[in-house]
Amino acid sequence: MPSKKVKAPEPVEKQSPATPQINPKYAFFKLKIAPSEIHRWGLYAMEDIPRRRKVMEYTGERCNRKETRIRGEADLNYLFTLNSYWTLDGSVGGSGAEYINHCCDPNLYAWVFKGHILYMTMRPIKKGEELTIDYHFDKDVPPVPCSCGAKTCRGTINLLE
Ligand SMILES: [Zn+2]
Repeated sequence: MPSKKVKAPEPVEKQSPATPQINPKYAFFKLKIAPSEIHRWGLYAMEDIPRRRKVMEYTGERCNRKETRIRGEADLNYLFTLNSYWTLDGSVGGSGAEYINHCCDPNLYAWVFKGHILYMTMRPIKKGEELTIDYHFDKDVPPVPCSCGAKTCRGTINLLE
């Protein structure tokens, strides 16, 4: 693992203990967590990131279909679908990638590779930009309103078709 650690000192110590943290083991560029206009917390690039680069790995506890159904009933959850049977619950052992907000015009996409969820850049990202990904919620689950602010916002985090 390359030692591209997020240099913690000043941001981390000045933040309140409630500020979520990034696990530097799964972050491949300098990133930070800060309050977001989109929703609660967000992840921000602390350096320019080129296109098609691995930015973060999404980690979490592996849950089977039954466990996923139970945990999915919570209002706020961090479940990422790996395949038709497994999800990763980012609220347990999450790398920090679970704080990346949804946007209908995102700058990241998820690449599922050998059971790992890798967040890749779709386009170059500038220092200071918030990282976003399209959650692709199913059209058949209750709609979640979206306030991402993108010109192409579809109004819900759910897919329309
Ligand atoms: Zn939107």
